[in-house]
Amino acid sequence: MRLTQAFIPTLKEDPTDAELISHKLMIRAGMLRKLAAGIYTLLPLGWRTTRKVAQIVREEMDRAGCQELLLPILMPAELWRETGRWEKYGKELFRPRDRHERDYALGPTHEEAITDLVRTHVRSYRDLPLNLYQIQTKFRDEIRPRFGVMRAREFLMKDGYSFHVDEAQLESAYERMREAYAAVFRRCGLEFVVVEADSGAIGGDVNHEFMVTAASGESLIFSSACGYAASSESAKYRVIPHSAEPEARLEERSTPGQKTVEEVSAFLGLEPSRLLKSLLFLAGEEPVLAVVPGDRELNEAKLARLLGHAAPRLATAQEIEALTCGPLGFTGPVGLPSRLRSVFDVSIQEGRNYVTGANKRDAHLVGVRVGRDVRIEERADLTTAREGDCCPRCGDTLKLSRGIEVGHIFKLGLKYSEPMGARYLDAEGNERTIVMGTYGIGVTRTVAAVIEQLHDENGIIWPYSVAPYHVHIVPVNTAHAETRAVAESLYAGLVDRDVETILDDRDERPGAKFKDADLMGMPLRVTIGEKGLKDGVVELRDRKSGTVERVAVGEAAEACAKRVAAELTKLS
Ligand code: ATP
Ligand code: MG
Repeated sequence: MRLTQAFIPTLKEDPTDAELISHKLMIRAGMLRKLAAGIYTLLPLGWRTTRKVAQIVREEMDRAGCQELLLPILMPAELWRETGRWEKYGKELFRPRDRHERDYALGPTHEEAITDLVRTHVRSYRDLPLNLYQIQTKFRDEIRPRFGVMRAREFLMKDGYSFHVDEAQLESAYERMREAYAAVFRRCGLEFVVVEADSGAIGGDVNHEFMVTAASGESLIFSSACGYAASSESAKYRVIPHSAEPEARLEERSTPGQKTVEEVSAFLGLEPSRLLKSLLFLAGEEPVLAVVPGDRELNEAKLARLLGHAAPRLATAQEIEALTCGPLGFTGPVGLPSRLRSVFDVSIQEGRNYVTGANKRDAHLVGVRVGRDVRIEERADLTTAREGDCCPRCGDTLKLSRGIEVGHIFKLGLKYSEPMGARYLDAEGNERTIVMGTYGIGVTRTVAAVIEQLHDENGIIWPYSVAPYHVHIVPVNTAHAETRAVAESLYAGLVDRDVETILDDRDERPGAKFKDADLMGMPLRVTIGEKGLKDGVVELRDRKSGTVERVAVGEAAEACAKRVAAELTKLS
């Protein structure tokens, strides 16, 4: 590609509305432009890299025995009603209407559409397993679209679905997908960790996220020396027992206007860990009291999973009064009607004196002993791990780091096949429900993640595998006839050898050309300068290391082609 003919609008300044380095660089390097909040055009450079990531995904999926298809983006609401997701998915789902006032979903994910397809075609165990995927634009009305293509409202995703006769068959496909995903991200030149994750509204039990390690990542990861790694939504920690203390008497204390943990613990002169926070939630119609220690955060993802509800919500002041007979801010588990479901966090201990709300205005109870003053019927892990907690596996300290979620694999089990009636006949002629798995990769997010990990103060540092072009030729002074001639013949030589090449044939100052070359970040730059030409050489400069090799003019094309081929094999 000749820069004089290309549409690569680079910018000198950072865009004002971009926070993340990948977002800034994609705009500045002429890869991306915003149309509206969370909606972007991928310009030619951005699209080339996106296609390369998609192609790597395709190759690894095909190698793993999956088949590509293309499902419709637009799906009738009825299909989504079958699984209950029309109601449950909430505001993230775009819901267009047709001229007959019929409702549709713009696909944010495609479990319903693919299960509908498979249920009409699969008859017998001989038709299974199946592993189908697509690479397609997804639509999600994110609350806060931001960071460019990292969290967009319209983005490219690879979504795959597998269908099995039983759990064992799913298990082996799941392991195969895990390997394939690792291969995809390795080939994209990324450093990543695989973490145990929360299954969110999609459901199912076991699932893993592929996290690209980056300080700017939105996801928090807990990990420890033994290899345990989990997202903050699902990380467990080992509860360290407090030593038992002498039993205190249960007493009511006046705490006028003191509602929050901070207020009450300061007022009573106690550590926040002495307090029990009691939070009343509604999971649909069902009220549930979640009780957690005052010094820990309730983890809504863990609660949602426990209750089997996508988004339990906090009760309003009126609902609290109706259910506990006490006002907001003074709720506690002691003396509540036993029909109200109460769940205690696993870290709450017998043998310790706690403080709780008294279900009465301006009053708390001190000396509360669980077991004595309140019976625990249900315990669960309800709180978020903290840095310094002990690893649930090895007991070593948990470390906290940040990552970008680029892929997600789930074992779905019967979650969609059961409500949608996707069944098959086994060898004995019994009807059984198909067991499913689902697998996603954020293709455009992966592009951003590569930049987030691979850049310097001057711009992007593309790995060869996903670079929009491999070689960037910079003739330093285009007014110099020999320079121009050498550049043209090198360009022709590379095009001949099928090397993806940019030729900066613009009549620009050398400084501006070098700046743009660094910004766009092609892995190999060839500098053609008058000085070098006097010695009959051009310079091959590696974008990543900055090392320079001088190569004879006549050998430059072959040297570049060889270098590119060798580097590409490393990431294949
Ligand atoms: P997140 O927690 O970041 O919202 P998710 O759990 O909603 O992600 P999945 O439903 O598992 O994501 O989607 C599969 C993949 O699609 C994710 O791993 C991510 O890489 C990508 N993805 C999800 N939402 C977006 C988005 N709004 N913009 C770009 N990529 C996205
Ligand atoms: Mg999401």
